[in-house]
Amino acid sequence: TKVMTFEALSIETLASRLGGTEAVTARIGTDTGKWKVREVGDGNLNLVFIVEGDKGSVVVKQALPYVRLVGDSWPLPLKRSFFEYHALTRQEARAGKGTVPAIHHFDEVQALIVMEYLSPHIILRRALIEGRTPPKIARDLGLFMARTLFRGSDLHMKARARKEDLALFADNAELCDITENLVFTDPYFEAAMNRHTTPQLDGIVTELRADRDLKVEAQKLKHLFAANAETLLHGDLHSGSIMVTDEDTRIIDPEFAFYGPMAFDVGMLLANFWMAFFSQRGHELGGSREAQRGYLLGVIVETWSVFRTEFAHLWRTERSGMLYAKSLFEDRGDIFGSEQALDHVLHGIWTDMLGFAGVEIHRRILGLAHNADFETIEDEDLRAACETKALKFGRHLVVNRRHIHSLDEINTLAGLIE
Ligand code: ADP
Ligand code: MG
Ligand code: MG
Ligand code: MG
Repeated sequence: TKVMTFEALSIETLASRLGGTEAVTARIGTDTGKWKVREVGDGNLNLVFIVEGDKGSVVVKQALPYVRLVGDSWPLPLKRSFFEYHALTRQEARAGKGTVPAIHHFDEVQALIVMEYLSPHIILRRALIEGRTPPKIARDLGLFMARTLFRGSDLHMKARARKEDLALFADNAELCDITENLVFTDPYFEAAMNRHTTPQLDGIVTELRADRDLKVEAQKLKHLFAANAETLLHGDLHSGSIMVTDEDTRIIDPEFAFYGPMAFDVGMLLANFWMAFFSQRGHELGGSREAQRGYLLGVIVETWSVFRTEFAHLWRTERSGMLYAKSLFEDRGDIFGSEQALDHVLHGIWTDMLGFAGVEIHRRILGLAHNADFETIEDEDLRAACETKALKFGRHLVVNRRHIHSLDEINTLAGLIE
C-alpha cells in the first residue's frame, strides 16, 4: 500500500508498505509472507528495522517527527533523514565503499533509508564495554576522518561546489541546535533535562558550573562549532555510531551532518575512547581491564597518528581547492611554505580537537544523553568514581588545550588520575 504522506512504519505494516519497493524486493525477495521484521532501534531518535526475506536482508531506518527518547513533546524535522542520506553518499564517495553501509533506497516523504544490514557487526561501544579489542578501528577511523574532512573542505573541493553543498546542509539547523545546546551549554548550568549520578557527583557538578574559565572556553568552542563552516562533518561520531567486526569498520548514523570545524568529529571520537578508558574500572568484576586500558590509549594514539599522516598525504597530493594554492607554494618550488601551512592547519585541528573532546566528556556525564560505558556500571559509587575522573580530565582538556603538546603527555596524565 502506497501512502502519500508520512506515516510511521511498524513491525506489522512494514511488509505491506515496502512489499512493492523494488530496491527492497530485489535484495530480500518478493514473497512478503516470508519476511521477518524486527525493530532494533536503540538510538535516541529514530526507528530501525531489520527485514529478512528468503533471499537476503536489509535495514530500514525511518525518522519520526519527534525525538524518540523524549516523545512528541519534542518535535524534530523528518528532513534529518534527507541529511543522513546525503551525508552517507558523500562519505562513501570521499572515504570509499565499505566505510559506511551500502545505501539501496531513499524515500524523502516517508523519511526512510533502506540500507545494507551489517552483520555480524556490533556497535563499537558495546564491544569496548565487553572488553573486546577490535584490531583495525584506529586505522579505519583515522583514514575515514582524514578523507571525509579533507575532501569536503575548500582544501580540496571547487569553491562553488562546496558553497552549494554548504547551502544544502544549512537547513539541518534543528539538529545543530541540539548539539549547540546539549553539548556546549546545558551541561554548564541546571538545564531542565540534565541528570547526573547523585548525590555522589553533586559537589564536582557545582564546582564545574561555577568554573568561569571552563564556561568561557566552552562558549569559545561553541562559537567555533557554529561559525566555522569548514567541512562536511559526520556530526555524531561517537562509538555508538560505529559498527565493527575484527575485520571491518562501518560508520553509521550521520543525521547530524552539517558544515562545521574538522576538529569536532575528531574530538568527539577521541572523547568516547577516553570515556571508555575511564569506565573500565567499573567493568572489572569479570577480571582486570588493565590490558583493555592499554588498548584504548593505543587506539587514541594510533587514530590521531593515522589521521595526521593521511591528512598530510592528501595535503600534498589532493590540494585542489582554493586554500593555500599550489601556485603560491609548490609551483614556485617552495615546499617549505606548503609544509609550514600544513603544520599550522594540523596544529589548529589538534588544539580544537582537545577542547571538543573535553566538552563531549562533560555532556555525557552531566547532560541529557549519557553513555552506556558509565550507565552500565550498576554500583553507583563506583560509577561516580569513574565519572569524576573523566570530568576532571575533560576540564583539563578544555581549559589547558593550548598547552598540551602530545597524546603521550595527555595519556600519561589519564593513566595517573585513573
Ligand atoms: P539513531 O539515529 O536513532 O541513533 P542508528 O542509526 O544509530 O539510529 O541505529 C540504531 C541502532 O540500530 C544501532 O545502534 C544498531 O544497533 C542498529 N543499526 C543501525 N543501522 C544498522 C545497519 N545498517 N546494520 C545493522 N544494524 C544497524
Ligand atoms: Mg545512533
Ligand atoms: Mg572496510
Ligand atoms: Mg542518530
